[in-house]
Amino acid sequence: MKPMKLLTRMARSFVAGYNVEDALKQVQKLKDKGIMVTMDILGEAVEDKPMCDKAVQDYLDLLMKLAKVKSKAHISLKLTQMGLAIDDEYCTQNMVKIIGLAKKNDRFVRIDMEGSAVTERTLKIFYRLRKQFDNVGIVVQAYLHRTEQDVREINKVKGKVRLCKGAYKEPKEVALKKMKDIRANFIKLSQLLFKEGVYSAIATHDTKLIKWTKAYVAENKIANKDFEFQFLYGIRNKTQRELAKGGYRVRTYVPFGTHWIPYFYRRLRERKENVFFLAKNLFKK
Ligand SMILES: Cc1cc2nc3c(=O)[nH]c(=O)nc-3n(C[C@H](O)[C@H](O)[C@H](O)COP(=O)(O)OP(=O)(O)OC[C@H]3O[C@@H](n4cnc5c(N)ncnc54)[C@H](O)[C@@H]3O)c2cc1C
Repeated sequence: MKPMKLLTRMARSFVAGYNVEDALKQVQKLKDKGIMVTMDILGEAVEDKPMCDKAVQDYLDLLMKLAKVKSKAHISLKLTQMGLAIDDEYCTQNMVKIIGLAKKNDRFVRIDMEGSAVTERTLKIFYRLRKQFDNVGIVVQAYLHRTEQDVREINKVKGKVRLCKGAYKEPKEVALKKMKDIRANFIKLSQLLFKEGVYSAIATHDTKLIKWTKAYVAENKIANKDFEFQFLYGIRNKTQRELAKGGYRVRTYVPFGTHWIPYFYRRLRERKENVFFLAKNLFKK
């Protein structure tokens, strides 16, 4: 198979389609299985203003489309897609437009967390938006040394948090490197969120962490309606279905669009089997 064709085919297992119509078909399939969604229009590190304006318009169009088809989907986005590389104020005002429209439709907007170079500015904009809106949430990464302090601050403003391990390549000065340590911090942060936070999202495919969460909520009598598990589209589909069947709230992150390469690259890096599969097939005669 030609390299580009193989890449595209592999990417399709992580990306729900190139346009909103394709993605909505996958959203419906997940809904039929009792799984909720958050939709992401792929894009990041945008330095060009007309491209940012287009990304904002694409999200506004998506929100109108979701209202039209009466979908309860949440949306997720990245601030570097919304103009963070251009200017903080411009980025904030773009977010106000999106979150404002989402609010009218009773819809939730999650700000994804990107590399550590933009963590501080992402959080600053989140705090600003949180003062104005209750339908905006943030992501924190268990591998960052700073995250425990951030979670304490976010809890103070009753911010809704998605907890994940973290997907970017970071130096040891800012991030934990060993999986054992990242897992231990994930557990510590989960406890902090369950005790002091509001409606947390536990975003991991890690069997040990999912098992730990199930045991913790049972032991501490935390109701299923008070948190959710989150997964990425195309990963551990059976576990997603089983959790949903078991009465847990499950939400899948559904990315779509044409700018899939950085997202796909992060998914490859996370699992060496994916890289082996790709390499084996690229060099196959
Ligand atoms: C809903 C959601 C939103 C996220 N948002 C962000 C964000 O905003 N910022 C950020 O930095 N990170 C984000 N992430 C990514 C996250 O930080 C991790 O990089 C990613 O989830 C892998 O870590 P893990 O906890 O699943 O554990 P891992 O130990 O990486 O994976 C556990 C198991 O899951 C399966 N698995 C995991 N990844 C793959 C894969 N790529 N392909 C096939 N199987 C796989 C494998 O069976 C693996 O053994 C998000 C993750 C989720 C689920």
